[in-house]
Amino acid sequence: MPISASFSTTKEIDPALPYALAPGVWWVGSHLDGDSFQCHSYLIEAGDQSLLIDPGGLRTWPETLKKVEQILPFDKIRYFVCQHQDPDITASLVEIDKRITRSDAAVVTHWRAQMLMKEYGLSLPFLCVEKCGWQLEAGKRRLRFVFTPYAHFPGAFCTFDEESGILFSSDLFGGFTEGFKLFAEDESYFEAMRPFHEHYIPSNEVLVHAVEKIRKLPLSLIAPQHGQLIPKELTPYIFDRLTSLDCGLFLLAQGSADIHRLTALSKTLREFTRAMVLYRDFSEIVEAANPMVRRLLPLKELAFLAFDDAGTMVAMTPENRYHSRPADLPSDMLEALLIAAHAPAGSAVPIQFSFHKELEPRPTLAVPLDAGGKTSSSAMALLVLHEEIELFEEVQALLQHLSKPLQVAVEREMMLRNLDQQREHIYQRSIRDPLTGLFNRNYMQDTMQRLLSLNDRNPDARVALAVVDIDHFKSINDRFGHNKGDAVLKAVAQAVIATIRDDDLAVRLGGEEFAIFSSGASCLRIMEFAERLRHAIESIDFSYIRVGFKVTASFGVALRQASESLHDLIGRADESLYRAKTEGRNRVCGGIGELG
Ligand code: GH3
Ligand code: MG
Ligand code: MG
Repeated sequence: MPISASFSTTKEIDPALPYALAPGVWWVGSHLDGDSFQCHSYLIEAGDQSLLIDPGGLRTWPETLKKVEQILPFDKIRYFVCQHQDPDITASLVEIDKRITRSDAAVVTHWRAQMLMKEYGLSLPFLCVEKCGWQLEAGKRRLRFVFTPYAHFPGAFCTFDEESGILFSSDLFGGFTEGFKLFAEDESYFEAMRPFHEHYIPSNEVLVHAVEKIRKLPLSLIAPQHGQLIPKELTPYIFDRLTSLDCGLFLLAQGSADIHRLTALSKTLREFTRAMVLYRDFSEIVEAANPMVRRLLPLKELAFLAFDDAGTMVAMTPENRYHSRPADLPSDMLEALLIAAHAPAGSAVPIQFSFHKELEPRPTLAVPLDAGGKTSSSAMALLVLHEEIELFEEVQALLQHLSKPLQVAVEREMMLRNLDQQREHIYQRSIRDPLTGLFNRNYMQDTMQRLLSLNDRNPDARVALAVVDIDHFKSINDRFGHNKGDAVLKAVAQAVIATIRDDDLAVRLGGEEFAIFSSGASCLRIMEFAERLRHAIESIDFSYIRVGFKVTASFGVALRQASESLHDLIGRADESLYRAKTEGRNRVCGGIGELG
């Protein structure tokens, strides 16, 4: 008998001959030229109780029958196991039915498959796996049936041969393979399986349920109906990959039959989800999304618009490295965007768009992100394109699916932005005097401590101080009331702010006393500065608070001496201030000595 009978899984196999997988277990499938569906049937020898697993369709049956008859006479087969109802497994039953002579032969299947297969009008009886307790004694062989519902079919199951440890898996471990090769050689076989499962199995839960049952079996080999047989060494890898596979791609784009494009799309979505988990920074997430979107679209740049809590429209663009900045958009752009914002989340609205008035508007897809139940989205992705494109179903599906994680990313960014603003607000409140907006004493202590130690290391980095005290302020309060007193304090603080240089530090020391610190070259001009401020204060026109008085202030100026403390520096400036008061007020006393 010219049959291959080696149990090695690496040997070249002649597809024209039956092949022994284990003692008494045979591959009797067929290889049709130019068909990427290798159809595998299997024969299990058990004397006159022998079994044929997944007998096949009408195209493959002559080949399978020929192989079977090379091993044993056809009427030794009692059981025809059909692991699901597909015609490429069961259509040959019509031929088998005609050929059968023994009265105890039966089709072994699930009741759900029987409901369909009875339409073949067979005289062969059915034996339902669930009625025989999910197992079958056939001669010396014992087979266990493993229910794998909804993995391709509600009544699908796999068959485990206890003696050989072979699992006949029907479609569950099937794959698309170009040429004929009976055994998978390495992990790359998973890629042949991937499209099969990503598309036809509706959900990962269905797949995990099936794989977890099979993982527990003492397997030596997995023999699927299509693709390649999986040797034991590869099974842990295949199980792991299958249980983490995204399934249900059919749901993604019902109209597309191009499963390779769908697989590319699914890969994109998977990568994006990973980027979302791995990166915290919005700019990193968007930079990860860029090449993914580019795989499907001629993307020039990706930008986002969102409204913050205060209702301000902010833009996150490549220019600002996706940190949100208030958006300043031309009004015709705004109009187009507001219309697009009312489209359903994830839909792509083609508009002409540019962030800048000077730049030519470009073809752009405006994608409103999930509005969370509101009528219009509070965020939008803008995909600026190199050229107009046709909105293929895959593109729409990609945008639809990206819109949800992107919404989460944008929301997270907006939340962080809000927190940053609040933090900044709280910080400013903690370092500033609420009435005048000048820095407070606490801030002065911290900042000057740093500045003075810098001065200690580099004596040329001099520090000078002018303290200012409003003259007869008590009488202003007494005559015009506390509110008008406050207005005077604010006006004087404004005069201080208007007079100082950017790197000067202006502080409200308390009451109607202020301090201005100058460092470096500005020190040399502190007398001049004090004089200018004195003049500015006496020139303030208070007619806006309907009082006709003039406000003046007295100044004490000091230059910090080597290693002098802040306290002592202020003390010396205060002494000069006191002198200015006693000498008649509205004047500057003290100075910066030999420097001035
Ligand atoms: P001198 O020319 O000697 O500096 O006299 P003065 O009246 O300005 O000095 P004094 O220190 O006696 O009075 C300061 C007054 O400033 C007393 C206090 O009621 C008032 N004051 C302190 N803080 C505030 C404030 O926040 N608002 C108002 N309206 N008044 C304040
Ligand atoms: Mg005073
Ligand atoms: Mg005072």
